[in-house]
Amino acid sequence: MKVLVYAEVRNGKLKSTAGELLTEARRLLAGKTENIHAVLMGEGCAAHAKTLATFGASKVFVVDSPTTNTYQCEPHIQTITQLIQKNGYTLVMGPASPTGRDFFPRLAVRNKSAMLTDVISVSLEGEKVIARRPMYAGKCIAEVASQSSLTFVTLRPNVIPSEVLNASAEAAVENFAPTLNEDAIKAKIIEVRKGKSEKPDLTEANLIISGGRAMGNADNFKILHDLADVVGATVGASRAAVDSGYAPHDMQVGQTGKTVNPNLYIAFGISGSIQHLAGMRTSKVIVAINTDPDAPIFQKADYGIVADLFQAVPLFKDELKQLVEHS
Ligand SMILES: Cc1cc2nc3c(=O)[nH]c(=O)nc-3n(C[C@H](O)[C@H](O)[C@H](O)COP(=O)(O)OP(=O)(O)OC[C@H]3O[C@@H](n4cnc5c(N)ncnc54)[C@H](O)[C@@H]3O)c2cc1C
Repeated sequence: MKVLVYAEVRNGKLKSTAGELLTEARRLLAGKTENIHAVLMGEGCAAHAKTLATFGASKVFVVDSPTTNTYQCEPHIQTITQLIQKNGYTLVMGPASPTGRDFFPRLAVRNKSAMLTDVISVSLEGEKVIARRPMYAGKCIAEVASQSSLTFVTLRPNVIPSEVLNASAEAAVENFAPTLNEDAIKAKIIEVRKGKSEKPDLTEANLIISGGRAMGNADNFKILHDLADVVGATVGASRAAVDSGYAPHDMQVGQTGKTVNPNLYIAFGISGSIQHLAGMRTSKVIVAINTDPDAPIFQKADYGIVADLFQAVPLFKDELKQLVEHS
């Protein structure tokens, strides 16, 4: 078994999923890291090779070229396909992030191989790759077995805790310049418009404050943003809030939104549907504020407060301000 991990870099920053993927690859190969390689793509991405080594990558390929520096599906597919052909990988792992979800299935088709998506763990039966993946919003777990000699896997973010293997490890670093077939690049990214927020993305946030349908309108979300600013939290939303136009889709937490795993998740006016829980149930501490004492979210919450959110938010803000000032 020879494993290649796609370590995602966005805006020059290494995504935390890289450590999660390498930790899982190490567990899969029972700690034998010589067959675990990683690939980095993006301007100046070589700076992250050392971090990948600490997580167990024995070799890191660095692809730093104008065509691959901004994510585009086709150049990524061609680059990784060439690495597979050159080095004979049998398992290629990437994150089930928007980027991974976009190009991994196409990569699998290009290589006429199996694709196991959004998995939460990988194991081996001989050389056969077996993966576990949640189904029906996490109500049951399916075990799927690859029938192919080359397997592609996307791992759900925030499920596997990253573990550094050796903080002083060094990897062999190789610059890789793919030979790109420009004619095959049918779509090009012309411009990337970044969101205004400087806060960590929901999938990487340690503190999340979310609002549901009870927020009532988009303007009311401002009180959650103000509260979040006190402690540097990221603001999320339920689908009902997003569908009602109170918040943009990139703030949606849940089955059809983002999967999050913060240390603290505070839910204001969210009922706790199975689809919302699917995206945040693994949060370390869940606090729910809801006027309905029978709201399902209270069954999942570590701390529940039966209250009107519009009264609770200012109280939270005052308390958190004091905590921050005295810490
Ligand atoms: C295929 C599919 C996928 C889905 N994916 C997602 C997903 O990714 N994410 C997601 O969130 N949902 C998803 N849903 C929708 C989901 O089923 C729920 O409809 C949605 O989560 C409800 O959002 P909500 O809790 O904000 O709204 P509601 O269920 O309407 O709950 C609002 C809550 O606010 C409380 N409340 C009202 N006023 C106040 C107040 N003043 N103060 C405090 N509390 C108050 C109410 O008691 C209630 O519990 C999906 C559904 C389907 C079918």
